[in-house]
Amino acid sequence: MGGMKRHSAIGRRGFLRSASAALGAGFWADQTLDGAVQNVNRNSQPSDLKITDLRIAVIKGAPMTCPLLRIDTNQGIYGLGEVRDGASKTYALILKSRILAENPCSVDRIFRKIKQFGGPARQAGGVCGIEMALWDLAGKAYGVPVYQMLGGKFRDKIRCYADTTESHDPKVYGQRLKERKEQGFTWLKMDLGYDLLENEEGTLTHPLGTKYNSPPNLQHMFTGHELTDKGIARMADFVATVREYVGMEIPLAADHFGHIGVNSCIRLGKALEKYNMAWLEDMIPWQYTDLWKKITDAVDIPTLTGEDIYLKEGFIELAKNHAVDILHPDLATSGGILETKKIGDSIQEYGVPMAMHFAGTPVSCMANVHCAAATESFLVLENHSVDVPWWDSLVEGIPKPIIDHGFITIPEKPGLGVTLNEEVVKQHLLEPGYFEPTPEWDKERSHDRTWS
Ligand SMILES: [Mg+2]
Repeated sequence: MGGMKRHSAIGRRGFLRSASAALGAGFWADQTLDGAVQNVNRNSQPSDLKITDLRIAVIKGAPMTCPLLRIDTNQGIYGLGEVRDGASKTYALILKSRILAENPCSVDRIFRKIKQFGGPARQAGGVCGIEMALWDLAGKAYGVPVYQMLGGKFRDKIRCYADTTESHDPKVYGQRLKERKEQGFTWLKMDLGYDLLENEEGTLTHPLGTKYNSPPNLQHMFTGHELTDKGIARMADFVATVREYVGMEIPLAADHFGHIGVNSCIRLGKALEKYNMAWLEDMIPWQYTDLWKKITDAVDIPTLTGEDIYLKEGFIELAKNHAVDILHPDLATSGGILETKKIGDSIQEYGVPMAMHFAGTPVSCMANVHCAAATESFLVLENHSVDVPWWDSLVEGIPKPIIDHGFITIPEKPGLGVTLNEEVVKQHLLEPGYFEPTPEWDKERSHDRTWS
């Protein structure tokens, strides 16, 4: 193999020598750069490229509701992006007037212009969806995959973990997780909510009359819900049964504990140590750095948060304080492809790895894949759609199944590397309209400067 490579390198040098002799030294010197880029596929002249439109098609049942967006240009090429699952398409449409006539290849410049219109969780969906589509356009304009514009790749395929439908019966749940392992997944996650205890006396102290996770928008510290020793033992037994099905070696993360107090989080976390969980996710809201640090310092298995944080600063704060062990941005909330790479690179300096939260269509999935490819601190990427039979067929241009034995191959085509399968997308629209015109958003205006 090495011998063959050497041989062909010499052959190529020989070819260059004779080509240069034939053309004459002066011609060769002038034409070297142009000659070297002649095989690059340019779909357009990037300097004249302008954004002319922003249109939406909303997918339902993927299993989430996911607004796809398309940015059109004056030269026939378009970019695909996606507003975060569960968010309103309006978050993207309100930005249309701010991006019209811009050159989409100026990705970071446009991102800085619209970044003020993002916020935590779904509020950032429009900014991030547009950022994905700009990278898709820039990649198509210059003929390179997105990961290459981020500095190249650290790996050829992306490790995935899959969401798994919950069961109150630990044996049923264990069997479902075992099936994920048999599908080839090399990392598992389960939900472990305290609602598992709702039919069992003496497992929870709570203000009498209040119910599990009710009211749903009351944060953990304010519910007055605390697990009893019996409740903690039951939840630990549940994980013990699941571990019997999947073994101790495969990473097994846990999420959706429910709105229990910080001390219950610590006591539960300690009880789960012997099952060697890969991480305990979102035990409390991400905003409480000091409380997170208290849990993380007390429990000797990894803690994790991040799916609702917008922009790198919130992640850096948690990493710098070692308030959690792993951070978990959702690229459709955290600021898009480049900001999420910056997050991964920034937290790496504090020794904190980056897992990635994701629950969208293959369009947003590919944005995640390119970012994960180009970020050294990347650990594993989520997928919520393993049981949606038509999910793969929403797009063309990449090998199927998209997740093959737990891994996604990184696309090598320009941009994100996928096109939409129009027929399949049209079968799963939430509302009538497949990328219909949106002229009502052309003139939305305000004085947007955030300082005086
Ligand atoms: Mg989560």
